[in-house]
Amino acid sequence: MLQLHYVAMTFPNGVRAVLPISLSVPKGQFLVLLGPSGAGKSTLLRCLNGLLKPTQGDVTVEGLGSIFSNARTLRKHRIRTGMIFQQHHLIGRLTALQNVMVGRLGAHSTLRSLFALPLADRLLALQSLERVGLLERALDRADELSGGQQQRIGIARAMAQKPQFVLADEPVASLDPATGERVLADLHRICREDGITAIVSLHQIDLARQFADRVIGLANGRIVYEGSALQLSQTILDQIYLAAPSRMAAA
Ligand code: ADP
Repeated sequence: MLQLHYVAMTFPNGVRAVLPISLSVPKGQFLVLLGPSGAGKSTLLRCLNGLLKPTQGDVTVEGLGSIFSNARTLRKHRIRTGMIFQQHHLIGRLTALQNVMVGRLGAHSTLRSLFALPLADRLLALQSLERVGLLERALDRADELSGGQQQRIGIARAMAQKPQFVLADEPVASLDPATGERVLADLHRICREDGITAIVSLHQIDLARQFADRVIGLANGRIVYEGSALQLSQTILDQIYLAAPSRMAAA
């Protein structure tokens, strides 16, 4: 269970990217965040990973408490949380396998990471590549692979962390629709198989309808819809996507 308690984020320039949001995400849920560009999806995801500390409220995780309580707890939470980005954030000149091994670095001390990782880590990375259908490309350079394959490596890297949570920020936005659907299906399947809680921001409403257990619609940093993907009517989509912008904190 991941919980947000009145989480809000105002940037130093006065932009209120997220207004107080409270939310409980049960274990294993595949939650999709919908909302126009600038709605606050990335900011919220970064708060959930502790990359950003909310200016208000708290994020708690079952068994850990507040992720911000101290540096050690935050580190534990980050190790358990796989991140997937739109632009993959792969190192192009490294092989697919080496990129996936990066997902294992957090599990070891810095000193250990300077030396070769144990065989068990290599095996885990290979298994992760197999799960996204890329085992035979393990030794190819990442920049020689297609966009869809690169995003699958991004997924394999997150899975090599053996995460409890996956946070994905528009993971298929730069892929063509058919590839995007297949890549998201892979992510969804693996999360289901491993009981991973996933929070995924998407632009594509049809993909939300296909994969989401639950949809949160964000507009101007606020939740304007919360419910099942099946109930996403045109009126609700208009509320999410046509809300007039109003972002600056009162002077
Ligand atoms: P989304 O992911 O839905 O496109 P973002 O979370 O990226 O939305 O942005 C929400 C709002 O916060 C936008 O108005 C954006 O310009 C602003 N914002 C994002 N990051 C920063 C930052 N580091 N400093 C100031 N404003 C930011």
